[in-house]
Amino acid sequence: MKYIRFEADGRKLYGILEGNSVRAIKGEPFQKPLSFTGEEYGYNDIKLLPPVPFSKAVCIGLNYRDHAEEFGLPIPETPVVFLKPSTSAAAHSENIIYPPICHRLDYEAELAVVIGKKAKNVKEEDAADYILGYTIANDVTARDLQPKNGQWTIAKGFDTFMPLGPYISDEVDPSSLMIASRVNGETKQMSNTSNLIFKIPFLVSYLSSVMTLLPGDIISTGTPGGISGMNKGDIVEIEIEGLGVLRNTIA
Ligand code: MG
Repeated sequence: MKYIRFEADGRKLYGILEGNSVRAIKGEPFQKPLSFTGEEYGYNDIKLLPPVPFSKAVCIGLNYRDHAEEFGLPIPETPVVFLKPSTSAAAHSENIIYPPICHRLDYEAELAVVIGKKAKNVKEEDAADYILGYTIANDVTARDLQPKNGQWTIAKGFDTFMPLGPYISDEVDPSSLMIASRVNGETKQMSNTSNLIFKIPFLVSYLSSVMTLLPGDIISTGTPGGISGMNKGDIVEIEIEGLGVLRNTIA
């Protein structure tokens, strides 16, 4: 299924995307079995929201070998982990705001895991039971601010720095998906999620041994090599096989 969150008739709703039509669901997609409100909308008539209002986005740094190498950094032995605030979320098609204090704004194409139920001390072999599905993330980064702070919270925590979407799918096998980014149509990153250093079952297990993961929380799995800057007016697209294209404009 493909889950979306959207605004229609002044309400915020979750829905199931089927072709060009959206069936509204009652409550949240974490409650199974799903029940439907009976309302149906055209995909072109709704305003998309970020697919989940997460409580935390747990992000993995340097999780592709070539990205660590482009910074001249060693391959990490344990995951490099940081958090993005809930207020950094942005929807597909929403503008990414270029902060005035930033002088180098980068995209980072990432596969994002969406947690489906409360997870604490989950074993690797059980990780799949705790996942609602997968979506695309753009881990937008104020690169010039990153080395100035010992932590990455400032460089990665601005409002609109976590575009997600357009939808969450439970129909893909995340272990081998083409992942790419484009700026104004020009390909910048091109890799495959099979190149992840720390794999998704390990990440769910490891992170849930530290913090309780709640329904809707995001694990963003890291970006491949090929990062570079963006300018105001640029259109950035992240594409992942089976998950569509996440498109945003820099404003
Ligand atoms: Mg990243």
